[in-house]
Amino acid sequence: MGTLELLLELHKHDNNLKNINLKLKEISDGEKVKTISAKLEKMENRLKDIEKRLETNQLGLNRNDLLLRDLYYRLKETEKDLYGGKISDLKQLSYLDKERETIQKEIDKKELEIIQQMEKIDNLKEEFSKLKEDFKELKLEYINLIEGYNQTIEDLKLKAYEEISEKEKISPKIEQDILNAYVNLKKTRGYALAEIIDNRCSGCNMLLPTIVIDRLKNMGEIVYCENCGRILYINKQDF
Ligand SMILES: [Zn+2]
Repeated sequence: MGTLELLLELHKHDNNLKNINLKLKEISDGEKVKTISAKLEKMENRLKDIEKRLETNQLGLNRNDLLLRDLYYRLKETEKDLYGGKISDLKQLSYLDKERETIQKEIDKKELEIIQQMEKIDNLKEEFSKLKEDFKELKLEYINLIEGYNQTIEDLKLKAYEEISEKEKISPKIEQDILNAYVNLKKTRGYALAEIIDNRCSGCNMLLPTIVIDRLKNMGEIVYCENCGRILYINKQDF
């Protein structure tokens, strides 16, 4: 294998490595993971919020239950006085009757309040369980996504390792100063090799003198582009 062919091989493996690294970066940037993770956090906060509201409402309901029980007791006592026959004073009876009415109104009000509270608690419970289901589903999707990514990352790392060991096999076969030039070009220009297309360097678009192309074609020499310095090559089929 000539030097140029070796350089082309090196170039190929470097390109593969570059693509692998791009893919790895894409995964680590992971827009999808970020979106799901943000959604999960939002859901979790909402769940906590509902839980807190359920607790508050339950406490309120318990308190109202006690108050209602107390009102029932007071009603019973008032009715006992009112209808027990022990009291015959009209003024007192009329007062008791008013008292009974007031208590009854309070009972009606409290009962309505309790019904509303129970409805609210039911709604919150329903919302909670629905949200919890959605949360579980999304969490599973998230885990699968991460696992899939982990598998992909493993595969890509393995491929990168293979590319690197291929490069290590090729590099020692190339003359040191040419290899150095290749490495420097890659560092400064992004890539070291440029194909000649329509008599132009595809790296910088400079029109190349025929003599340069001939030297490359006929002698298989290493030819650098005069403008960008890249190592020139002609499509492999032309060799
Ligand atoms: Zn050039």
